[in-house]
Amino acid sequence: MAETSELIEFRRAFVWLLCGMLLPSVALVAFGVVAVANERAAVERRLAVEYDARLRTLSLDLLARLDRAADAVAARRIDPLVANIRPLASPPPELAEAARRAATLPVGGHVFANTDSGNERRAYALVRAVRESGEQTLLAQLDVAGIASQVQRLAELKYPREAAAFRLVPPREPVAALAALRRIVAEAGQAGTVVSRIALGPPLEAFALVAELPGDPAGPLAFRNRTLYIALLVLLYVGIGVGFGLTLREMRRAYKLSRLKTDFVANISHELRTPLTSVRLFAETLREGRAVGPEEVNECVVLLSAEADRLSRLVEKLLDWSRLESGRAALELERTDVPALLERIDVAYRAQQLPATYKTEMDAQLPPVNVDRDAMAQVVLNLLHNAVKYTGDDKRIRVRARRAGRNVAIEVEDNGPGVRPHDRKRIFDRYYRGDDLLSRTTEGTGLGLAIAKKIVELHGGRIELDSKVGEGSTFRVVLPAA
Ligand code: ADP
Repeated sequence: MAETSELIEFRRAFVWLLCGMLLPSVALVAFGVVAVANERAAVERRLAVEYDARLRTLSLDLLARLDRAADAVAARRIDPLVANIRPLASPPPELAEAARRAATLPVGGHVFANTDSGNERRAYALVRAVRESGEQTLLAQLDVAGIASQVQRLAELKYPREAAAFRLVPPREPVAALAALRRIVAEAGQAGTVVSRIALGPPLEAFALVAELPGDPAGPLAFRNRTLYIALLVLLYVGIGVGFGLTLREMRRAYKLSRLKTDFVANISHELRTPLTSVRLFAETLREGRAVGPEEVNECVVLLSAEADRLSRLVEKLLDWSRLESGRAALELERTDVPALLERIDVAYRAQQLPATYKTEMDAQLPPVNVDRDAMAQVVLNLLHNAVKYTGDDKRIRVRARRAGRNVAIEVEDNGPGVRPHDRKRIFDRYYRGDDLLSRTTEGTGLGLAIAKKIVELHGGRIELDSKVGEGSTFRVVLPAA
């Protein structure tokens, strides 16, 4: 039941993870894809805006230059942009309006105008000037080709390091099918691309200023940005994938741990109940006088005290673990000779009256170690308990102390069933118990090796396992020599 509800909790967490992380990221990626698809248009727009501003500045400079040309006419100076000058006696109808406005200007003033005659578009300055015959309006025709080359000169002055060419272009053809076709063909063959175009006012009405960049400027830029976006998208997805994988792994771990904890509580309850039942049974036997004679009474008392010992060992183990896990376990390290340590372990072991003995082997002249004697005795006792618990009737257990380089190794060897490969790392995890039949039918909490590992690591050492299934196990505690 507990397992099912935990599973539901984890499924819910998984769904939240999906909604909270994966769906928004998919939306984000969709935006990214749209951005990638529209990148070329966006680059073209950016270029247009940038060059529009430059063309506007250039058109103002050009107008100022034309004003200077008109001023030169009034002052009888020669200006290369002026093609010819003549008095405007009887203006043609297209210039009548401009002539009327010029007549109202003071001397030196001018208006610009343009005319269309056949295929030719002409540009004029109508200048109010004083000549021998008195005040009159002069019609100065401006040289359009000269103006066009002036545009390039002005642009070079203004933007000396500019890659774009700025040009004055003639009026567009009316958009007829043939003209459009001709333009497409021309554009396909052209080396540059017009990135921006602005229309001009009089005297260059219908002419336009264009900025032209060599080749296809938007292409490489769009390609670069697109590649960048795609790389970022891939990176984003890889990041999300890795994050998702890690979160799932953590969730699985948490799920397994919570299952182990549930098993642990069940184990502990069972472990407590067995000695408690025995204690109750023996106590009742004594109370009701069912034990006949002093021998039976004595037997009951011995068994009672053994069960009480078992209970207190269990409670000690739990308290040890809680102290270790909360970091409250303070070690009192003392320089200790290995033989003295093994002796202490032996005394504690014998006091527990376990149903097996063990042999001790020791290298001569082992260096001393810095250990908390009680804690280290507890580590080896835990290993000895396991050796006793998990071996069959013919128990051959050995404790060996030997030198291992600059360290001292204390090994507990047994001829038990061994630890299966997939369990070898996990048996040192808290609450973990082997999932073989023997472990399931043997009393235990899954804390013994976790406690041993933690204590050994607090001493700056490590705990290792050599095991062959069916032959036995050797647990090795490696401690730095003092
Ligand atoms: P417990 O013995 O209470 O289950 P431990 O942490 O001491 O907890 O041991 C964890 C697991 O390691 C055991 O459940 C058992 O499967 C395995 N194990 C420990 N010692 C031995 C051993 N000497 N031989 C075989 N298996 C062992």
